Amino acid sequence: MTDSSIKLGIVGVGKIVRDQHLPAISKNPNLELVATASRNGSVEGVPAYLSIEEMVAATPELEAVALCMPPQYRYDIAQIALQNGLHTLLEKPPGATVSEVEHLKQLADVNNLSLFATWHSRHGAAVQEAKQRLSSRQWQSVSVNWKENVRKWHPGQDWIWEAGGLGVFDPGINGLSILTEILPAPAYVRSSKLTFPENKAAPIAAHLEFLTAGGVPIKLDFDWRQEGDEQWSIAVKTDEGHALLKNGGADFVLDGQELEIEEQNEYESIYDKFVDLIELGQSDVDLTPLKLVADSFMLGDRRIVEAFYD
Ligand code: NAP
Repeated sequence: MTDSSIKLGIVGVGKIVRDQHLPAISKNPNLELVATASRNGSVEGVPAYLSIEEMVAATPELEAVALCMPPQYRYDIAQIALQNGLHTLLEKPPGATVSEVEHLKQLADVNNLSLFATWHSRHGAAVQEAKQRLSSRQWQSVSVNWKENVRKWHPGQDWIWEAGGLGVFDPGINGLSILTEILPAPAYVRSSKLTFPENKAAPIAAHLEFLTAGGVPIKLDFDWRQEGDEQWSIAVKTDEGHALLKNGGADFVLDGQELEIEEQNEYESIYDKFVDLIELGQSDVDLTPLKLVADSFMLGDRRIVEAFYD
């Protein structure tokens, strides 16, 4: 950390902040965590406030914020951040709706601030290698499988089952963020089958079919009821052979051979990029994954299944 380091605040100190943001920020010499705003959470040794308004009023040196609360509660807080001159990092998904994030982008532009809508899975170690290796091939079909046990990853997180919480699309959108990064052409939703527990407002499973502008069919299966081996993979059949991007973008198998990939921490990479964006006076707001989720809900053929309890 140096005197010229960017003075950062965090809003919404919860699971992802403790697991990923705090270790990544502490390793970045260009960032200094100077305050948090959270109703219940705090970080040892860092001044803690209950709301963003209190944090802003008490911390005149604040330059940037990372907003890490669930997506349904991010828009109002992001507006306050941008209206107070703060560069703003949004956890994924960047908001509960496409239009609210578009508004945030306008607000950032008008105020000459950097807005970074992060997609952590795009920073997976093997994603850029896969993109580059597959860019010269003819894609024939794609199969995306994002299957995990919700009881293991999201115990007690009521917001994820509520409207705007996205349900199984909360992890599924990570797969979409990688897919849309490596795809050689834009994709659109052709059909969507969504499975809702009778006591929840968000789906527990989704079966989707996309097509690219070039006619490549894409099948996607998202499921939160996985009991055995979990799967976060994208399989691509090409004219020259098969590719498998697995473990959420960390590993890559090309034509049956596992490539050696240099390790990369997703959140360290995110914060490096946030610093770069601020220094360059730029924003990075790609809403493509969120639009595909919105379209999947619009076209969604809904099936109701038995109630789900944690
Ligand atoms: P979380 O722990 O359930 O929530 C984070 C914090 O947000 C909470 O500790 C809470 O802090 C605040 N919050 C909760 N409800 C709120 C409300 N109604 N209004 C304002 N603040 C509220 O969630 P998380 O797992 O960290 O996930 C947060 C975001 O990170 C989500 O968008 C998620 O998709 C993304 N993410 C999560 C993971 C993961 O593994 N968990 C991985 C990658 C990305 P206070 O009560 O102290 O205010």
